[in-house]
Amino acid sequence: MNMPETLKRFEEALEHRPGELVEARQNGKKVVGVFCCYTPLEIIHSLGLIPLKLGWGGDDELAEQGIEYITNIQCPYVRQTIGVFKEGKNPYAVNTDVITISAVCLQEYRMVEVLRYYFGKETLTLSVPKNYYLPEGKEFFEKEVEGFTAELEKIAGRKLDPDLLRASVDLYADIRNNTAEIYDYLALDYSPITWKQVITVIHAGFYLSPEKHLSLLKELNSELKTIQMSEKVRPINSVRLMISGSIIAPGNTKIIDVLEELGVTVVADDICSGQRTFAGFTVKEPTLAGLAEAYLDRIPCAAQLYPDQKTDKRLENIFRQIKDHRADGVLYHTLRFCDPYTFRVQENKELLDAKDIPFLQLHTDYGANDIGQLHTRIQAQMEIIKRRKKEVHHARSQKAV
Ligand code: SF4
Repeated sequence: MNMPETLKRFEEALEHRPGELVEARQNGKKVVGVFCCYTPLEIIHSLGLIPLKLGWGGDDELAEQGIEYITNIQCPYVRQTIGVFKEGKNPYAVNTDVITISAVCLQEYRMVEVLRYYFGKETLTLSVPKNYYLPEGKEFFEKEVEGFTAELEKIAGRKLDPDLLRASVDLYADIRNNTAEIYDYLALDYSPITWKQVITVIHAGFYLSPEKHLSLLKELNSELKTIQMSEKVRPINSVRLMISGSIIAPGNTKIIDVLEELGVTVVADDICSGQRTFAGFTVKEPTLAGLAEAYLDRIPCAAQLYPDQKTDKRLENIFRQIKDHRADGVLYHTLRFCDPYTFRVQENKELLDAKDIPFLQLHTDYGANDIGQLHTRIQAQMEIIKRRKKEVHHARSQKAV
């Protein structure tokens, strides 16, 4: 399948972005780096600050560099991100003035401490309550968001303007809706875009200005519609898999490269750097309270508590996507030393087993040593799924006779 033309425009925009950031900073603008999913980007944007989503993966050497400041039993994502700051070459890390953290995972908090202590970065913390489902948790987070905004106002040198906040809320809602539209193509029998390309488009939004990102998303959407109408692309007659589990951060293509080599089609994901950047998210009112509610109520990370398995939104999202995107099985990816996602392997497996949905856990890092093993395990799982599909097909045709 040919690459949609608009993807080249994303690449070009990304090439120019570091230069734009340098220029903006020379003109007095401040860049706010964001870790994790609970920071309302709308507030940063409406204050005239430049939000960038940070965090990197896929480079074992940089992950090694991070060990100098933490330990080798921290997750590779955290290690590599520290390594990126240590190396001091990544234009987004270099051009970040302030780092905000709104994580639910302790390892990310430690990472930001390291960036503050050893690299002199100014940091701002937005605490996310563990009892987010109770009124007390919601009240706490609303106050946190207010305090966080007051700190950002000092950095921006101006007060929050309700009209500008409303405009930023609308802008980000438009981005989420357009991303969702692109992502939905993956559910089709013939998709004009691959999962890897969709993820690239989502990751581009980590760095581009939201205005630029939105205009490219719209352009891509209209191109995909045209392709869809004009030809049948990428018949999905291979195994359709959903990817779940730990973050697959920008730069980490290890698993997806193996899947592509094996001809597996990824049709859905629920990772925090993929589908969960836009899914299950509605801002009911464009105010600080409305944003606090929307962010706290989003599909949670595995590091959050789930008081009731039956109403656990993360699990519900996995099952909904398996159904809507007709996934044949789930590939559950865990990074080494990523406890939040590894703790939940058994639960996920049992629940999927109960519905007869094939499940494969891949526990890995950014090194190349286990690629052969990953290859073999995924291939074996594909054979199982293919056999099952044949049996189901056979049983159906027998019934029809
Ligand atoms: S959730 Fe996992 S991958 Fe993310 S920071 Fe925590 S340990 Fe690392």
